[in-house]
Amino acid sequence: MAIYNPKSLKAEEFINDGEILDTLKYADENKDNLALVDEIIEKAKLRKGITHREASVLLACENEEKIKEIYALAEQIKKDFYGDRIVMFAPLYLSNYCVNGCVYCPYHLKNKHICRKKLTQEEVKAEVIALQDMGHKRLAIEAGEDPVNNPIEYILECIDTIYSIKHKNGAIRRVNVNIAATTVENYKKLHDAGIGTYILFQETYNKKSYEELHPTGPKHNYDYHTEAMDRAMEGGIDDVGLGVLFGLELYRYELAGLLMHAEHLEAVHGVGPHTISVPRIKAADDIDPDEFDNGIDDETFAKIIAIIRIAVPYTGMIISTRESKSVREKALRLGISQISGGSRTSVGGYVEEEDEDENSAQFDVSDRRSLDEVVRWLMELGYIPSFCTACYREGRTGDRFMALCKSGQIQNCCHPNALMTLEEYLMDYASPETREIGEKIIEKELLNIPKEKVRNIAREYIEEIKKDGKRDFRF
Ligand code: SF4
Ligand code: SF4
Repeated sequence: MAIYNPKSLKAEEFINDGEILDTLKYADENKDNLALVDEIIEKAKLRKGITHREASVLLACENEEKIKEIYALAEQIKKDFYGDRIVMFAPLYLSNYCVNGCVYCPYHLKNKHICRKKLTQEEVKAEVIALQDMGHKRLAIEAGEDPVNNPIEYILECIDTIYSIKHKNGAIRRVNVNIAATTVENYKKLHDAGIGTYILFQETYNKKSYEELHPTGPKHNYDYHTEAMDRAMEGGIDDVGLGVLFGLELYRYELAGLLMHAEHLEAVHGVGPHTISVPRIKAADDIDPDEFDNGIDDETFAKIIAIIRIAVPYTGMIISTRESKSVREKALRLGISQISGGSRTSVGGYVEEEDEDENSAQFDVSDRRSLDEVVRWLMELGYIPSFCTACYREGRTGDRFMALCKSGQIQNCCHPNALMTLEEYLMDYASPETREIGEKIIEKELLNIPKEKVRNIAREYIEEIKKDGKRDFRF
């Protein structure tokens, strides 16, 4: 039997089933041990994170008072680390050809009634221009796994095309990549192509379920999939994004596995995950979420988000348009730092109106508002939508990024960057109503930049964006 070892490079040792089962048992035994729960909450208040065991105790705890304390702490940590800023991004689907058999995804090989599409470079260009016209600066590209239709060369060509398009005042400044687990060599190529974060969802950490949910195709190999982030880091990619698809397995198992994965990355590479995404299974062509009996309700979902927030304070958290406006609203308070807006989850969906009969979407979108509406909504809730990509472009990735977080200089860096990129958005893309709200927020928030020197420079830059048409300032 494999022994738990966070420093091991073997999947069964760093995501160890025995350790997860022991953790869940420990959590059950201690869920009413309020002295221990208090101790864990006190530890979390130090803002250095908590372990998968401690997080699992909090997740099992049903005491209403303690849950309220956990939520309050998550909100406070969210404020301290991320202020009111929310980073905006959009997914871009390149191809839905896929050779895998994932039972929860409509792109699985056997689905014959979905329309298969792969963007040509001309179509990539058209999609990117449409995204730039909305105001996006940060994309996450997505593609199914298909060595013939979507080889790494195709992905690299698309990245190149995306970065090359300068349209009006727009440019995509950071391309995150969500493609299948691959080799160190291919990760090196992605790194050399200048990607931001490499994102790969584990789907489920439970090996037995994983193998059943991925009955065919290369993704069936649990170990190869689970060890992908180590290969990505070996290939030079500093920023990696984790995630599970909640609803496939028992959520308590998944949270423990997810945090063990984060602990493993920290133990081996000295830097934890850059982001964690929290997708829940949704309806799509050929997929009925009710067929999966581990679905989680909105309250449990909120609790998971709050616990991840306090367990890994330096890790950004992402929520997509799978979730409705009201779920996203609560999630933002509890820990989410990045959201997508105006998303289309079909191949070519930004240029063509999505056609119900020719559905190529990966999942149904619950939040169908435009980016302008999402930006305005965020500002009405008191947030600052940020289009910042400065760290990546200044080479602050991996441990250098973590050093910025830990230095306490975030407010002197992220905050002015958020305001300047928001000003660019307001000038170039926003509706008059959105602009009016945004200008007031920027005026008010400039005062919240702690260092006077930085505040004055940010003010000057914002004037230049407004009056002289200059763009792309950053700290
Ligand atoms: S989840 Fe990914 S790998 Fe699986 S079928 Fe869908 S696109 Fe393919
Ligand atoms: S300065 Fe860096 S950490 Fe802050 S919002 Fe920009 S990219 Fe993110």
